[in-house]
Amino acid sequence: MKRPYNFSAGPAALPETVLQRAAAEMLDWQGSGMSVMEMSHRGKHFSQICDEAEADLRELLAIPDDYAALFMQGGGLAENAIVPMNLIGLREAQAADFVLSGSWAVKSYKEARRYGNVAVAATAEQATEINGVQQAPWTYMPDPSTWKVRPESSYLHICSNETIGGVEFPDWPDLASLGAPDTVLSIDASSHILSRPMDVTRAGVVFAGAQKNIGPAGLTIVIVRKDLLGKALPICPSAFDYAIVAENDSRYNTPPTYAIYIAGLVFKWLKEQGGLAGMEALNTAKARALYDYIDSSSFYRNPVEPSVRSRMNVPFILHDDALNAAFLKEADAAGLLQLKGHKSVGGMRASIYNAMPMEGIQALIAFMKSFEQSHG
Ligand SMILES: *Cc1c(COP(=O)(O)O)cnc(C)c1O
Repeated sequence: MKRPYNFSAGPAALPETVLQRAAAEMLDWQGSGMSVMEMSHRGKHFSQICDEAEADLRELLAIPDDYAALFMQGGGLAENAIVPMNLIGLREAQAADFVLSGSWAVKSYKEARRYGNVAVAATAEQATEINGVQQAPWTYMPDPSTWKVRPESSYLHICSNETIGGVEFPDWPDLASLGAPDTVLSIDASSHILSRPMDVTRAGVVFAGAQKNIGPAGLTIVIVRKDLLGKALPICPSAFDYAIVAENDSRYNTPPTYAIYIAGLVFKWLKEQGGLAGMEALNTAKARALYDYIDSSSFYRNPVEPSVRSRMNVPFILHDDALNAAFLKEADAAGLLQLKGHKSVGGMRASIYNAMPMEGIQALIAFMKSFEQSHG
């Protein structure tokens, strides 16, 4: 049986071989007589699973020893509170600055306002002209040279891939060059972590919910510089205090054990695919093929400024909204699932994370062409 191609933004498709392996090990993990779900999180079997997952994650992202790699719960939205509770008190001003690049960064900003002195460093909420083209709000990245980072701020927050708008930071900025050498970067990388190599040493903290590009919902990955730990606000729950989670090897309380196991299988799969350099080459080719086709057509359109188009989430609109329902129905019948765009943007969105093969992109383009022919 051939499975359909699943373009969900999240929870998203997983590699088929990972699902097959998990199915084969469901009742009895490697002769233990137990499903992974039935194991003590402190026992030797799960310790092996968890330690290997952490080691593979560290290898994939080249995470150095002075950074902790934590398995937590709460998802991206909980991190919007957990990051300020842990890091806003790093410096006396208890301040943090935010680059508003789309709905996820805006959510992070609004949540953090409950914990300290929070300001906007830059925003893409206004329409603007870039290279002679009028860009709608939230379809571009504010030029880093214009960001206002307060030198007394504990951290600057960015969302490095806006899952809804389809806007991706090609690179992370250097805060010393923005006049804030003692401020660290906080990065929400939920929807593009592991899609390409990333230099985590340029950030104080990088977090990501697992359900886009790693594994099942319920697991959150946090990579944080160890010398920033231990300054959590008194109101921070101990289960969310990075220092406590790190001291206890992500097992202070019961972690999402099955989600960690699946993530571990995905990490091994990524290593077989040539690691993150291999994924970047594939993801770049996938995104280029899809954007090239969209740009060549007058039936479909992607509104994002070309230099910051996401390689993971590709929103596109049809020239006539009245065709949206027919597009989705016929796509479904053709084995192309979950293409509906987010309600705030409309139209369609193809999320093409690591688990989407090039054949899925080719099938989508072929379907889009034939839909254009029959409805154009
Ligand atoms: C999906 C997503 C989130 C929200 O994650 P939850 O696990 O639902 O809390 C946060 N940030 C980004 C960039 C996302 O794509």
